Amino acid sequence: MQRFTWRIGTIAGIPIYIHWSFWLLIVWVVLGSFGEAVFSWAYLLGRLVLIAGLVVSVILHELGHALAAKAFNIPTRDITMYPFGGVASLARIPEKPLQELVIALAGPLVNFLLIGIFFTFLAFTGVSPLFSIEYLAYTEGSISSLHSWLYLLSAMNGILAVFNLLPAFPMDGGRVLRALLALRFPYVRATQIAALVGQAFAILFFLVGLYGNPTLILVGFFVFIAASQEKRHVEERAAMHGYTVKDALMREVPTLKATQTLREAVEALLGSQVRSFLIVDPLQNLVGSLSREQIIEALNEGRGPDTPLTHVMDEDLLTVSPDLPLHEGFRLLQEEHKPFLVVKEGDRLLGIVDAENVAEFLLVRQALAEAFSE
Ligand code: ZN
Repeated sequence: MQRFTWRIGTIAGIPIYIHWSFWLLIVWVVLGSFGEAVFSWAYLLGRLVLIAGLVVSVILHELGHALAAKAFNIPTRDITMYPFGGVASLARIPEKPLQELVIALAGPLVNFLLIGIFFTFLAFTGVSPLFSIEYLAYTEGSISSLHSWLYLLSAMNGILAVFNLLPAFPMDGGRVLRALLALRFPYVRATQIAALVGQAFAILFFLVGLYGNPTLILVGFFVFIAASQEKRHVEERAAMHGYTVKDALMREVPTLKATQTLREAVEALLGSQVRSFLIVDPLQNLVGSLSREQIIEALNEGRGPDTPLTHVMDEDLLTVSPDLPLHEGFRLLQEEHKPFLVVKEGDRLLGIVDAENVAEFLLVRQALAEAFSE
């Protein structure tokens, strides 16, 4: 997990974090309140209590996704709160359209359920849940009652659900659209169409934002990038289809001895094109790995040049079989944040695969395909 995130708890086995940038939102709200004509401490407290209600709503929304995913045996690594909303990081996105549809809809469904609960409570405590201006008296002072608080929270849950259902990645609606398209088209084609629709929305946000709403300009920008990323990601995975890690293997991997020093590793790094090393013990057994990034990190941490490599190497190797599908190997690399996969057949080392090599392999494949199609 990233630094400066605060773990607030664990629900259904899923750790829930608050990202450091979330506090910027709180600071912004507090400072903004001071500047307002209606400012009072009660007013500020009212706003913070409302934000707390909104945060809980967002976490419940994300838990909706997580629990739906769990029903399809897809674990959720964590839920993190950012200033712009929450993110549930699922271990993978299902390619079965109906599963993706259910998982995507489960989030906004939670918001609609909350609205239902709040309105039922309001009705049973003698308040008409229909639009009533007195419950929006909030801005005049503090939150005057539990009723006005529930009323405002309902409105915010409504906005949350509707905004999330817009058919644009990374919003839930983008996934809903892709899943619906995937019932009719191949998955890659469905993603391409959904990404295009998402980008059209992004441009719309951007243009509307130009009329005096900087937040909308920013949202448009992010949505545009998210749509491109989703498309690229799915296309990459499709390009890897049918290949195994063996196809993208680097057979010649330079090795360093565990008894060598950081200085020697730096020399080896600078004196060649190599970006990763395997570390062996005196009996030539594989005991660890060392990547360019790990060498730089060790230097940044102030490790001296005579530090033995046993102190800086990564002993936790990610070992896979040569027959592992390439896209799964690629996913493992990203998920485990490892510089490369060690490919072994039984006890025999075949080589390593890193992300750069996979990218190179795909480019070569594409170039060959184009050369022969002309
Ligand atoms: Zn969602």
